[in-house]
Amino acid sequence: MRSMLKRDLRILAYHQVLSIAEPDAFAFDLELISASEARFRKQMTLLRERYNPIRFGDVIRALESGTALPPRPVIVTFDDGYDDNYRVAFPILRELGVPATFFVSTGHVQSGLPYAYDWFVHVICRSAPGQLRIAALGVDCALPATIAQRRELAMDLLDRLKSLDAQAQQAVIATLEQEADLPRTRGHADCKPMNWDQLREMQAAGMEIGSHGVWHRMLAKLPPSEMHQEVHQSKQMLDGELALPVTTISYPVGGLDAYNEAVIESAKAAGYTLGCSYICGTNSLPFSAAFQLRRLPVERHMDEAWFEAMLALPEAFTYPSRHRAD
Ligand SMILES: [Zn+2]
Repeated sequence: MRSMLKRDLRILAYHQVLSIAEPDAFAFDLELISASEARFRKQMTLLRERYNPIRFGDVIRALESGTALPPRPVIVTFDDGYDDNYRVAFPILRELGVPATFFVSTGHVQSGLPYAYDWFVHVICRSAPGQLRIAALGVDCALPATIAQRRELAMDLLDRLKSLDAQAQQAVIATLEQEADLPRTRGHADCKPMNWDQLREMQAAGMEIGSHGVWHRMLAKLPPSEMHQEVHQSKQMLDGELALPVTTISYPVGGLDAYNEAVIESAKAAGYTLGCSYICGTNSLPFSAAFQLRRLPVERHMDEAWFEAMLALPEAFTYPSRHRAD
């Protein structure tokens, strides 16, 4: 059992790496902060010392040549593409010699617009006091007073929002930002996507870039033509803008309602070799499910002991996460 687990590929999933002075006043989704800068450095140091951090490219080469991966292989991944990945995480990764893969949504890279789910939370945190009405979610309630309370409410509503089809989700967010007069085009430093130059620099330094769709939409909840567009266009754009072709896609949100067989077929047709879910678990080699790779989400409340234990005994941590998969 123990030796078997050592050969399993562990894929860590991060979002933002950010140190927040006042978490209570943070007007975005706190759960998307995977670690502070200091904690991230400790986590990467542990990987360097006890595991073999590799890239998806190494996995693909091993699969193609039939050779084995190094013992205790780990891949570090980031979803969404927040610019703190470049500012905070990348210098640490480069310094410690740990490669990582950054899954970015090309529409956001191109436009610089904040991500829709983040903006949904932000608008609820920052709206003028008054009544919150969202008919599609059956919401009609007074907005709480503090940001912390509003964030709690927003997280709850975000879970409900994600059960709608992707177009209805988009409509709810567009109406909300319009009514609150907080358009996404305003942007915010705490929710800024990386740009092409940053991605090119990271790729040139040995980091991998992968696809996270165009507009971070739940692919299985889109009409087929739009789903194909998200899967294909994001790859075309990344391949056109970056020096190396993209091999791997991470399905936005990533739970069982976010991708399905049609999405996987579309990803294969688009030319991807691997696909990542946000479902908790490790991957035994050779893969039987190369397009449904499981990951181990890293969350900000995990201290060093927890992180170490999760990597050592991932089967103890493969709980059905209550967290919305982002
Ligand atoms: Zn995401």
